[in-house]
Amino acid sequence: MATAPTPVRHRPTITRTAGDVGAVYQFACPCGATGEEQAARRMALVDLNEHVLSLPKVPAAQQCRTPRTHGNQLWEPCGLCADQTSLFDLEVS
Ligand SMILES: [Zn+2]
Ligand SMILES: [Zn+2]
Repeated sequence: MATAPTPVRHRPTITRTAGDVGAVYQFACPCGATGEEQAARRMALVDLNEHVLSLPKVPAAQQCRTPRTHGNQLWEPCGLCADQTSLFDLEVS
């Protein structure tokens, strides 16, 4: 099984900027993705969710089972959980 490429941390956040006609909201992710400037926070949140959903699915074995404990996001492979799984993989190279 190929190891995952170095993951870009996807930690999208929504920023609020005061504009001439009121606040604008825009999501931005450390990976470089940004959304449109939106008039409402929830619209920026839609963009954010679209970005998260567009991310490649993490293989089941690497999905974090306790994201809160491990400080992981659901869209990120979890090294801790992956290690636990590999305990059951007795293949030796
Ligand atoms: Zn991202
Ligand atoms: Zn985990």
